[in-house]
Formats: sequence, structure tokens, C-alpha cells
Amino acid sequence: MLLPYTGRFAPSPSGPLHLGSAVAAVASYVDARAHAGRWLVRIEDLDTPRVVPGATDIILQQLRTLGMFADGEILHQSRRLSAYQAAFDQLLSLNYVYPCSCTRREIADSVLRLQGELPEGERPYPGTCRQGLSEGRQGLSWRLRVPEGSVSFKDRWLGPMSQDVSQTVGDFVIKRADGIWAYQLAVVVDDAAQGVTDIVRGEDLLSSTARQQQLAAMLDYPVPRVLHVPLVTDLSGLKLSKQNNATALDLAQPLEILQKSWELLGFERLKATNIEDFWARATPVWVQRLSRANLHGIN
Ligand code: GLU
Repeated sequence: MLLPYTGRFAPSPSGPLHLGSAVAAVASYVDARAHAGRWLVRIEDLDTPRVVPGATDIILQQLRTLGMFADGEILHQSRRLSAYQAAFDQLLSLNYVYPCSCTRREIADSVLRLQGELPEGERPYPGTCRQGLSEGRQGLSWRLRVPEGSVSFKDRWLGPMSQDVSQTVGDFVIKRADGIWAYQLAVVVDDAAQGVTDIVRGEDLLSSTARQQQLAAMLDYPVPRVLHVPLVTDLSGLKLSKQNNATALDLAQPLEILQKSWELLGFERLKATNIEDFWARATPVWVQRLSRANLHGIN
């Protein structure tokens, strides 16, 4: 019997979908179909400096053109600020968060002193403000007190994973210095509010999973299963992203986009004649792929 399933696709409207995001959308949609589940769309538009006007409408149109229709209202994170505040208040009352006055520069300097040179992005927060703000300093952001120890989970595509957030990331920001709720908090609050059972997304977010699972546990939310699909890179091996100007999808040939995404997921092209036929053929192939993974103890 199939378990209840709710999946989601959660694009940030910093530009139209490109092939990389199409691959993640295709994987999440086919996984929901394979489980006869619901598939939701959430627009992650909190990071206002990066929101591009008009991008949301284009993304929603792109999804429809590719034959992906949401089973329910589209959720816009920018309309959910009170939900994030409520979760924050809960964390605050449990003393799981604290204000931090550190600037980026200060964090980089103290990490260098403590640990020698580390590449950008791999510098755990050294915990400067954990015991309280220094005299005369003002809180800029808010951080979560990350518990020690490893978080282990099974990725339905990649297999067993483990990360010690306290060692690799440290206490992470849940409210930014510019007052914007951090992605990590919003994603966890919304996945719980939308009853998401299964997160299917690109591998670039694998490193956020342990953080999100820790946060979900602290808020007493159920922890969704995860599946991360390989990232699409350009010829020089860089992740395709809106930041490095990946070209928007050419929707004059939506079937071709689906076929390309499917190939990038490691499957052979399907003998599909139209969009609907593509989804009908893709679903059993995906089920087969998942049951193979099951045999290997991945599910
Ligand atoms: N909004 C994120 C992005 O576009 C995805 C968030 C998620 O799937 O958890 O990269």
C-alpha cells in the first residue's frame, strides 16, 4: 500500500527556470506521481534583494507548459512572515536562539585565528556570541544553538548520509542582519505547514538537510524524507544557476525540455509523443529506479 505522500517544488523567483531547476522540478513531480501523492509549489520569495519582478509568473507558466500542475494553492513565502515569527518565538522561549553581533569580517578573522585557512563557505561559526553579546555590541542577526553530534539520514537517491552541523557549520543564522528570515527557517516551517512528507531537490541543498532536520526536531515537527538529484553543470563543471546566467528554458519545445531533464537524471529518452504521454511513461520507469534503490537498502 502506498503511504500518504506530499511533495513540493520550491523555486526562488530570482529568474525563470533553467535546465538545472527543471531537472529538480521533474524529479519532484515524477516522484509524487509515482507515489500517487500530492505535489505542491512554493515560491521562495523572502530574499527580496534577489527577487526579480515577473519571475514568479514566468516560473508558474513554465511549470504548466511542462505539464506540471500543483495540487493546491501556490504558497508565497513573502505572505507567511507571521508563521516564521511564531516559530522564532517558540525557539526563543526554549532558549534555542541567541542574538549575534558579528559581522562577516569578524567571523572570518576569528575563524582564521582558530583554525588556519579554510575555503570560503566551509568556515563554521566560531560561537563568539553564544554566551552573550560583548559590552556595547548590538545584536544584528539571530543564530540557532546547534546541538553537538551527527545527524544521520537516508537519502532516497544517494543512500546513508551523516553530518555534524556543530562542527561543519556551527550555530547558523535563522534571522538575517537585514531582518529577513533565513531560508533554513522558512523552509522547515513551510514544509511542516504544508504537510510535506518528501523533499525532492537538487544536490546543492544536500548540505542543508542536516540543519533542517535539526531545526525540525527542535520545533517538534515531523522530519520529511529526502531525495537529492544530481546537479546539472555547464561545460566547465560549474553548477547551472541563475547567478551564473544559465539560460532560461526555451518553452517552444516543452517535450524536448522534459526529455533533456530526464536524460540528465540518468535515464534514457522516452518514446513519448506529447507531454502527457511523457509523464505516463516516466512514472513507471521512476518507480523501477526506486525499487532498485530499495533492493540496495536505500529506502
Ligand atoms: N528555493 C530553493 C532554491 O530555489 C529550493 C529550496 C528547497 O527545495 O528546499 O534553490
